Amino acid sequence: MAKPSCSWIRTSRNFSIPQPRPPQDNLPTRKRLIAPDTEEIDAKIRRADYILVTHGHLDHALDAPYIAKKTGAIIVGNKTVANLARAYDVPDVQLIVVRGGEDYAFGAFSLKVIPTIHSALFHKHYLSSRLAGNAPPGLKAPLKAGDFVEGQSVVYLLRLAGHEVLAMGSMNYIEREMEGLRPDIALVGANNERLEIYDYTRRLMGALGNPLVVMPTHWDGYGYAPLRVQSLAAANEFAEEVTAASPKTRVIIPQYFEPIRVR
Ligand SMILES: [Zn+2]
Repeated sequence: MAKPSCSWIRTSRNFSIPQPRPPQDNLPTRKRLIAPDTEEIDAKIRRADYILVTHGHLDHALDAPYIAKKTGAIIVGNKTVANLARAYDVPDVQLIVVRGGEDYAFGAFSLKVIPTIHSALFHKHYLSSRLAGNAPPGLKAPLKAGDFVEGQSVVYLLRLAGHEVLAMGSMNYIEREMEGLRPDIALVGANNERLEIYDYTRRLMGALGNPLVVMPTHWDGYGYAPLRVQSLAAANEFAEEVTAASPKTRVIIPQYFEPIRVR
């Protein structure tokens, strides 16, 4: 058997992550059973009303079914995200399936669902990888790492209490879909995969009309300290790009479980 070009590390009881790059589509790690770290979730999360999932990869969709069953929250996500949740017996009443293009009213808030494209992983060969597929119906937990495929990624624009928050799930976007959105706060995918995209930060700031606040997201090292140092450097580089493109934008680099108050 060919030697894997990357290995997996274990950061907590049940959550394994790739080191240092995401898995290639032919790695045996795809067959490895994977489960959420329920102890950690129980320690940190007591209440949730809605869980917005941008796509089905395990670093986005792994915990959502457990949190939904624990709290009664509704998961919003693509068909793949829903099929993954059904594998853990999340009932359909707690699943809102979206494909991009919806603009839904929920009373206290509204949610615009924006079509997007995933990071150009594997040096732009991402769409040839097995990470890019759809999860079929009929899956049953426990699931394997390889079951957590993308589906079709979306971006969310949440309108709440007079504010608009944009949430991206990876390092890519469709410029014409972002054009004209005016979020106060933009959570923007910021790790080095953004460097595969032409003029990523400047084009995005222009399309979004230079948001008041940008929070880099998807830059962390999944709790693995050596990766975190590199990741934080990438987040800081991204912050500099934002400042160069949009000098009045305030960049806030979020920390785990630290509330952020934005006036
Ligand atoms: Zn992903």
